[in-house]
Formats: sequence, C-alpha cells, structure tokens
Amino acid sequence: MSDLITVAGVSVDTRHWIGGQRVASADTFADLSPIDGSVLGEIARGTPAEAGAAVAAAKAAFPSWAATPRAERARILHAIADGVEKRIEELAIVETTDNGALLRSHRRGVMPRVAHNFRFFADWLLKLDHEDFETRGHTNHVSWDPAGPSVLITPWNAPLMLATWKVAPALAAGNTVVLKPAEWSPLTASLLADIAAQAGLPAGVLNVVQGYGAEIGDALTSHPDVRRISFTGSVPTARRIAASAAPNLTPLSLELGGKSPLLVFADADLDLAVDLAVEQYDNAGQVCLAATRILVEESVAEEFTRRFVEKAARLKQGDPREEATDIGPSIHSRQLEKIDGFVRRAVETGARVVIGGYRKEGQYYAPTLLTDVAQASEIVQEEVFGPVLTLQTFATEEEAVHLANDTRFGLAATLATGDHERAERVSAQLVAGTAWVNCFFVRDLQAPFGGSRLSGVGREGGTWSFDFYCDLKNTVTAP
Ligand code: NAD
Repeated sequence: MSDLITVAGVSVDTRHWIGGQRVASADTFADLSPIDGSVLGEIARGTPAEAGAAVAAAKAAFPSWAATPRAERARILHAIADGVEKRIEELAIVETTDNGALLRSHRRGVMPRVAHNFRFFADWLLKLDHEDFETRGHTNHVSWDPAGPSVLITPWNAPLMLATWKVAPALAAGNTVVLKPAEWSPLTASLLADIAAQAGLPAGVLNVVQGYGAEIGDALTSHPDVRRISFTGSVPTARRIAASAAPNLTPLSLELGGKSPLLVFADADLDLAVDLAVEQYDNAGQVCLAATRILVEESVAEEFTRRFVEKAARLKQGDPREEATDIGPSIHSRQLEKIDGFVRRAVETGARVVIGGYRKEGQYYAPTLLTDVAQASEIVQEEVFGPVLTLQTFATEEEAVHLANDTRFGLAATLATGDHERAERVSAQLVAGTAWVNCFFVRDLQAPFGGSRLSGVGREGGTWSFDFYCDLKNTVTAP
C-alpha cells in the first residue's frame, strides 16, 4: 500500500512525521469522507511506542529551538504562513473532503486565518516583554522562557484552524510540539508538516502523530518529558487527559464544549437576531461556540419564530464543495446517530419540532428547531454538536440571565438588544469566556479565548498564549 494518497488531486502522506522523517505504522485506519462515505485512504495507526518516539524527537530538538533567537523563530513562522498561503486552495479542498465543512469558507475564511495564526504569533512574540522594575534598588527582570515539549490534541470540526491556533504560539514561544489531530480528520495536519519542513523549521520541532486518541493519548499526556498539554475537544476526554497528566502535574489548557445561549430581547433588531440565530447552523452545528439555546422575550417570540422559520427554509443543504451550499454533512455516521438520538429523546419527552427533526439521505441532518423544552431536559443541558437548536421564552431580564447561566458550561453567550445599558448589565452577569453583543464569532487573536465551568481551563490568545506556553521567570539582580 502506498504511503501517499491523492485527495481531490492533492498528494497527502498518510504516515506520522517524527524527527523530520516520515514514519509508518504496522497498522492503519480508514479515513472516510463525510461527503459520500468514500474511503480517502489508510492512515498510520499510531502506537504508544510511536507517540513516545515523537516526544523523544521533540525533547531532542527543544534546546536548540528554545535557544533560537526570537527574530529567527518569527522569520520561520512567517515562512510557514507563506507556505500556507501558497497552498490555500489545496488545503481548503483537502479539509472539506476530509471533514465536510464548506469549501467556500475554508477557501476564503479558514485557511487565510491559518496563515494569520502564524503571522500573528510571530509578530506578538517580537513585542512580548515585561518592563523591568525595581525593589529596594534591585532590578526585577521577567523573562518568557520556553517551557519544553508540548502535546497539542485537536478535534475534527475545524482541524487545521484549531491545530495552528496552538502550534503557532507554542512554536513562537520556543517550545517543540507533538500534534495529534483527530482520527476523523487527519489529513491537513500532514500537509502542515510538509509546509513547515519546506519553510525551514528544524527537524523534531514539529511532530505529527496520527491515530486513535484512546490508543495513543495516554502515552502522550502521561509522558514525564512533556511540559505542556493543550487540548481542544470534549469534556469526557478532557477528564481522562487531566487524570493522565496529574502525576507529572503537567500544565493543561483545556478548550471544551459548550451549550451557549442567544438572548433575544424585545428591543432587539429582530432581523439581526434572526440572522444570528440561523448562523448557529454553520458547519452543520459542529461549532463549540454555537449559541444553540435561543432565549426569546415572550412578547416577540411568535414573530421571531415566524421570521426564523422563513429564513431557515432558504438554507441550502448539500455538497459542501458547491458554492451555493450553506450546510454540509455531519462528520461521521456515529455523530449523525448521536444527533438523531438527542432529538428523538427530546420529542419523546415533550419537545415540539418547529423545523427539521429528521435525517436526510447520506450523512445529513436537517436543520432543526425544537421548542416546548424543559430547562432541566437533556436537550437543553447537553451539547448535541449538530444542527439542532432549542427555543425557550422569558418574561424578564432576570429570568433571561437565569436561563442563560443555568448550565454546566460557560464558553460563550450572544445577546441581541437595542439597549446599550441592558447590553452592559446583562453581559456583566453572563458566565462565559466570550460574550457577543449584536454580533457573533468576531474573534481577535489577541483576545483571551477559553471557557468557564466545564467549557474549559485557562485562556489562550495573544499574551495569554505565551503565559501558557512559557515558564515565566523573574531574575532579581542586586545593585
Ligand atoms: P474528542 O474529545 O472526542 O476528541 C478530541 C481529540 O482528543 C481527538 O484528537 C481525539 O483523538 C483525542 N483523544 C480521544 N481520547 C483521548 C485520550 N484518552 N487521550 C488523549 N487524547 C484523546 O472531541 P471531538 O468529538 O473530536 O470534538 C468535539 C468536541 O470538541 C465538542 O465537545 C466541542 O465543543 C469541542 N470543541 C471545543 C472547542 C473550543 O475551543 N472550546 C473548539 C472546537 C471543539
């Protein structure tokens, strides 16, 4: 079997990338396209030994990369961004074929942003400093020391975007990396390894290990030579990672799930509120930040629902490679079954289907809105990770805030209101890593990003990323 596969005309290496070399595994797993269920290729199925080899390569490369001057690290990161920009079309079509998200958004939004991730953290590194200060004539100098080999574990819903949101600051900080992409979307991580090597990143500084998290996760996260673990994914996996990292007290950054609210007040621009609500179907609802709980003030609920149904009916679901498509497939048949199970159980316990509520041919789930849902019910409390929204009403601002915060999660919240004072008052009370007022998904890389409660531990973004990936040291010098 060949180690190279061709996906939509692009050649992708199916092996790991360890210490600057392609490494095969004895076993493989099939990577399927969610678009038509076809097998794209057989991918190296990593073993704990291969995971250990990747950590060893990262450890060996660390002293030299950590000692590389900031300007040189930044130059290489910009060269990686150049490489990404040259291959935007290829990266976009491979990602779409692999995870089913829209080609047009990969092409125009996501892949340019991937390049920007590298440029942003390269430039931020060059600005990063603490001013020295004095204590009784002694000088305090705070330095941002690279922490060491970092394990970065990422999910399938935005594979290269989320991977580079970690890889770029980790490399900028002077750390070496072992990246473990999700087994349902392994391909663009392999292309990133090629791009980084061509950009002159030294061998062992970035390593990519493919495989099932359940099989190689522990070998990575319990490894005593790993000095940072940054994980984006589900809460159950985060718990396992935290337990595995505990004996070494390895610092963790956890970006997890959500069940975010969209609060629509009667004083809102209702068309804007409807646009924000319908936007939650993006990426077939496979967005951690998605505001899947729509909370509408009673007096406008009927009109809001009418306009929502009208607008949602115009969404085109289908092949994500087509320009006109708004909603693509779900990533995997197992995910589709999970979504369907959530909806069936909700309906069995009294929820009313406003739109959708069924599977379509292939791996597609119809955009769904459920109402008459109880606050304590599974559909309101658990993350579905599919195109399924719930609608509840509230009578007062106090009730809106109560419903919004009555969840174990705290990733994001969106509110639509025409009253600035209300916007300030309500957003101040919401438990969320990000609160959006009359907008959604506006993300600046310098802002702190993360979740409260079960949505995560820690924040990344701008200086917060360097806080995480560095060991801060204060050197105190006598006069
Ligand atoms: P997942 O937890 O199943 O898998 C994520 C990654 O963890 C994969 O690479 C997987 O192989 C790996 N993994 C699995 N078991 C492991 C183990 N024991 N040790 C180490 N690694 C292991 O999550 P998923 O289904 O791929 O992703 C969906 C979840 O991710 C949703 O909950 C979503 O909300 C969340 N998410 C969060 C953010 C955020 O920024 N907060 C962004 C995107 C997705």
